[in-house]
Amino acid sequence: MCGEPVWSVGVQTECVFTLCVFQDVYLFIKLNSESLIRSVILVCVCISSLKGDIATTGPSSTISCPIHNCKWPKSVDGFVYVPYELSLQYDTMDRITIEMGMLDISSRTCVKFVPRTHQSNFLDIHPNYGCWSFVGMVGGGQPLSLQSPGCMWSGVAAHEFMHALGFVHEQSRSDRDRYVTILWDNIMEGQKHNFRKYHTNNLNTAYDYSSVMHYGRFAFSEEGLPTIMPKPDPNIPIGQRDGPSPLDIHKINLLYNCGE
Ligand SMILES: [Zn+2]
Repeated sequence: MCGEPVWSVGVQTECVFTLCVFQDVYLFIKLNSESLIRSVILVCVCISSLKGDIATTGPSSTISCPIHNCKWPKSVDGFVYVPYELSLQYDTMDRITIEMGMLDISSRTCVKFVPRTHQSNFLDIHPNYGCWSFVGMVGGGQPLSLQSPGCMWSGVAAHEFMHALGFVHEQSRSDRDRYVTILWDNIMEGQKHNFRKYHTNNLNTAYDYSSVMHYGRFAFSEEGLPTIMPKPDPNIPIGQRDGPSPLDIHKINLLYNCGE
């Protein structure tokens, strides 16, 4: 259905899950790869072992997080340590860029990204195909792709790290129709699934047009026509990738109970 897996995670060769991604789209996880989205898919990943219930539960009402218990655990010292490994394929500039994306988050929240020593759950950061991540902690060495040079902006890295912390795209929020209009006719054939809504717990925060998790107005555009229109003012900027907005930071602090 979606091609051969590009690499395996774990020791078994049989896929327990298949994850298919098209650039920054990562949510199509199904047992036996049945009923995967029939559309342009960039790459599929065979996952041979995963903890949790990611395959059996759809998007739920947990905070912007498609599964229960997808948060990284809090340490007794009040910090949330997210261990990571960086592929040796990255050069020094790449590493600095990626670590700047981490710093954008860690400098203003209780989430701390730490190089992995022995931890069993960690981000396995590779320059694979495109920029993508699982949503939340899935257990084990979970792949997070930051292609070089295509994804080498600290804001893009921070965007993927926010996925890994449990956040979906801002325009996927349950209440998004009050704030944006999706122009379905302008969306590239086979890419409409990127604009679906999820049942999210929005933590009583305002819709954030300036979120680093918001798509730009021409995302997956067929012919250069807008696909997302803010309302009531269509000129409100969306889609910035400079880094997490103040509200993004606030939401991380709320989700992880950082006690700002
Ligand atoms: Zn994303």
